[in-house]
Amino acid sequence: MLLSLSLNQPPTTRSDNVLSLLLVEDHPGDALLIRTLLLEAAPRSLQIQVAPTLAEACRQLRGTPVDAVLSDLDLPDCEGFDTLRELLQATETIPILVLTHCEEEAFGLELIKRGASDHLIKGQVDGRLLLKAIRYAIERKETERRFQILSRFDRLTGLANREHFGERFAQAIGRAERSGRFVALLFLDLDRFKSVNDTLGHMVGDTLLVEVAHRLQNCVRKVDTIARLGGDEFTVILEELENTSDAQVVCDKIIKALETPFLILNHELYVTTSIGITFYPSDDLTPHDLLRNADAAMYRAKDEGRNKFHVFTSDLNVKAQRRLGLESALRHAIDRDELHLCYQPTLDVHTGVVLGAEALLRWNHPQLGSVSPLEMIPIAEDTGLIVPIGAWVLRRASLDARQWQLAGFPTLRVAVNLSARQFRGQDLFGTVCAALEEADLKPELLQLEITESLLMEDTDRSIAALRALKSLGLGIYLDDFGTGYSSLAYLKRFPLDGLKIDRSFVRDLPHDSEDEAIARAILALSTALRLRVVAEGVENTEQFDFLRNEGCDEAQGFLFSRPLVRTDFMEWLKKSTKPPQAGVVRRLQADRRRKA
Ligand code: C2E
Ligand code: MG
Ligand code: MG
Repeated sequence: MLLSLSLNQPPTTRSDNVLSLLLVEDHPGDALLIRTLLLEAAPRSLQIQVAPTLAEACRQLRGTPVDAVLSDLDLPDCEGFDTLRELLQATETIPILVLTHCEEEAFGLELIKRGASDHLIKGQVDGRLLLKAIRYAIERKETERRFQILSRFDRLTGLANREHFGERFAQAIGRAERSGRFVALLFLDLDRFKSVNDTLGHMVGDTLLVEVAHRLQNCVRKVDTIARLGGDEFTVILEELENTSDAQVVCDKIIKALETPFLILNHELYVTTSIGITFYPSDDLTPHDLLRNADAAMYRAKDEGRNKFHVFTSDLNVKAQRRLGLESALRHAIDRDELHLCYQPTLDVHTGVVLGAEALLRWNHPQLGSVSPLEMIPIAEDTGLIVPIGAWVLRRASLDARQWQLAGFPTLRVAVNLSARQFRGQDLFGTVCAALEEADLKPELLQLEITESLLMEDTDRSIAALRALKSLGLGIYLDDFGTGYSSLAYLKRFPLDGLKIDRSFVRDLPHDSEDEAIARAILALSTALRLRVVAEGVENTEQFDFLRNEGCDEAQGFLFSRPLVRTDFMEWLKKSTKPPQAGVVRRLQADRRRKA
């Protein structure tokens, strides 16, 4: 629907009634004859200019636009196929009909192969036939042009498509080689576009892409090319750059241009983009390599927190390779039984009783070794694999928790981490219910850990989803508290049972005064909001003592136990709960005696 916006070459300026022709013919007799034939056939609707040489023809083509060229090939300044080639170069969009004495079919075919629109034989055509051939050639050329546009431009946005981008990029590199200037390639990906599509539907998603395309067009010059490679991925080719910082100026402009919210079908949408940049010339790379590098740099920009650009450096290549490898390996991780869960206990800081355990995902790949969840989860989120993996975790953790109960720990809870992505579009509620049912686990014994990013995205929907889950009776904790936006407003709006203070604030307790202040503030805040507080990453008794004195409720960390595989955790439970938490309890008792 927006194709008209991208027709780079304006259609030939032809009025519907009058055809304007250029006749390239050095033989005055032939020229006169052809003119007369044509004018007899259509006296009022033809305008014919004559050029006796190639040079004159090219000059005229540069000046007044014509609808078609009718040309002899043997001219005083050029001969044969060369004439055709030169004419084609002078005009890409106008049909060229060749008029010769040669009757050979093979010759005619060769002409067509080389780009002529038709081959007509002098002496065998009358005016009407000639005119018909010209009109048909014009129509064919127009169809060809439309077809070219369709095959080179993205239907939705009117921007160049992937193929056309490839051509333009190769041309830009060729030009840069000659001029000695830089070409920058920007690779853009809209942040969280998938969530717009998933939650508001494709109509909104598509319209958003069109609007983004418009804004991008306003950020670059005419010589630059913008393409949509598919989905929410765009590329921009910036040419004729004096230095590389010019590209960063454009990136800033783009980021700024997207800042104003988009108003689409009554939705106010905030969109940001992450941009990767590569430059040509750099290390003799092929266009393909450059695109891959720009893509890798874009991922780095996303890792750095989105709404940013990142310039490619060669160390990113290694990371990009690894990421690709992990991405495809992760697709088979569940089927090949490479995932398992570890459990890390949480204790009541006042009694030392083990209250539950957090399920932490582990991936052991036969070649890549063990992959940290910090590396795996973001990949699972980007690829959507987090949905099946998340469902697997819920199911496995519920089954394991049921085993603890059967082994004599009837109140031990299991905590499962959830990604924001698991809340989008899919039936998380159903997945949770199915896991509980299959394991025959009481909902009160399942605790979900969510992150602040969920609360920031699409709040109403998240609140509804959390309420539904909470109505089942399970507990909801906000994980990594303090690292994100930490807004008071949403703490009140969300149905939370507690917060987990991020381990980065616990690490330097009680020596770092800033962390101390933050920990105290979080504890005071949660008391006011009647939320339980769990401290994670507790590694030594100093941290533990500080937290306990400040009113923290639960603690988790290496001080008590590292995350343990299922069987080891069961062993640990049996040892440390008979008597419960011997070490901790002894210290607590000593503490109380001292105070008393
Ligand atoms: P988290 O939920 O904040 O989990 C706590 C992390 O702290 C775990 O890292 C744990 O091993 C580590 N940890 C525990 N005690 C200590 C300590 O005393 N000192 C230090 N330095 N670290 C400690 P892990 O297992 O590498 O998990 C990292 C993150 O990956 C988790 O952070 C969680 O956000 C995510 N994650 C893990 N499993 C899952 C899962 O099944 N689903 C989702 N969506 N995310 C998961
Ligand atoms: Mg957690
Ligand atoms: Mg955490």
